Amino acid sequence: MRVLGIETTCDETAAAVVETDGAGRPIIRSSEVLSQIAAHAAYGGVVPEIAARAHVEAVDHMVARALERAGVELSDIDGFAAAAGPGLIGGVMIGLTTAKALSLVTGKPLIAVNHLEGHALTPRLIEQVQFPYLLLLASGGHTQLIAVRGVGDYVRLGTTIDDAIGEAFDKVAKMLGLPYPGGPQVEREAKKGNPERFHLPRPMQGRPVADFSLSGLKTAVRQEAQKILPLRASDVSDLCASFQAAVVDVVADRTRVALRGFRDIAGHPTALVVAGGVAANMAIRRGLERLAAEAGVRLVAPPLALCTDNGAIIAWAGLERLRMGIQDDLTVAARPRWPLDASKDTRAGAKA
Ligand code: ATP
Ligand code: MG
Ligand code: FE
Repeated sequence: MRVLGIETTCDETAAAVVETDGAGRPIIRSSEVLSQIAAHAAYGGVVPEIAARAHVEAVDHMVARALERAGVELSDIDGFAAAAGPGLIGGVMIGLTTAKALSLVTGKPLIAVNHLEGHALTPRLIEQVQFPYLLLLASGGHTQLIAVRGVGDYVRLGTTIDDAIGEAFDKVAKMLGLPYPGGPQVEREAKKGNPERFHLPRPMQGRPVADFSLSGLKTAVRQEAQKILPLRASDVSDLCASFQAAVVDVVADRTRVALRGFRDIAGHPTALVVAGGVAANMAIRRGLERLAAEAGVRLVAPPLALCTDNGAIIAWAGLERLRMGIQDDLTVAARPRWPLDASKDTRAGAKA
């Protein structure tokens, strides 16, 4: 089975071809990603109108490139998947409409994938991780702890009540005068800094529900910075190091609570999986490794190219659905909001 996947929910225009071999093992035949970071950098964040226009201009080309790199023709594709949300609606519509058109002209199935499901099923694309597992999805737009029990069977154990983790990194970077996107900059500064110089809060620490709150931590960084203006280079590094250390503690604490909740609804997880752009942060990864060792589970961190937004994870989620007999009709709508636990789909009945 071979699926073409399209991703346009945020600031990447991406297309990929993923197939399974005779034993059902996944193979990524191509994965083409065009990042719009440069187009948005001047504004310090993603501008929806600019994103939508860039998707329109790039999507056909990215699909053609994905087919070409994979060495296949349109007629060799068994299904067309697109991320149908959640995301910036202008962009989502472009990817979904493209997949609908391809489905219409080829007569092959359309699969409308929840973007978060793409992230949730990624560990099965790289290592065939078995269900159930705990996913920490941490990106610029999302922070969620999800029990993944099967295709279409997700239980959200925690989410952020304000900023996403990546968003907090980006905002802290901005207030300290570091360029966008800020996450990697903050990590680089943190390496040079003293994590114990500033005493920052660990919001939600010890709370029994695995939710996150990051805006208070971000505000605390601002207040500490204001006390010592003007900032010297070493102040910036120390603020970054102290902020990152607080995030590492918060992530470990919240994930520990989610692991406890997981056991009540799904038993022992086969793995703890971390995905999303924030998974690039080595300090956070090390914190999660310590937690995983303590809890007796394996930590799986997909390669970075599959942690951030791309077409391969959408193609793979589409393939997992299609091989269970799940597909969508051409009337399916793009959805700006679409919680993952609402993606429950029992049409196929079984768990893969
Ligand atoms: P979505 O939320 O829809 O998945 P996104 O584009 O916001 O999309 P990603 O592309 O997965 O998310 O990740 C980008 C985010 O990850 C940014 O907020 C960025 O600052 C953050 N990030 C990237 N590298 C690091 C790092 N080394 N440390 C901390 N945060 C990082
Ligand atoms: Mg992105
Ligand atoms: Fe994403």
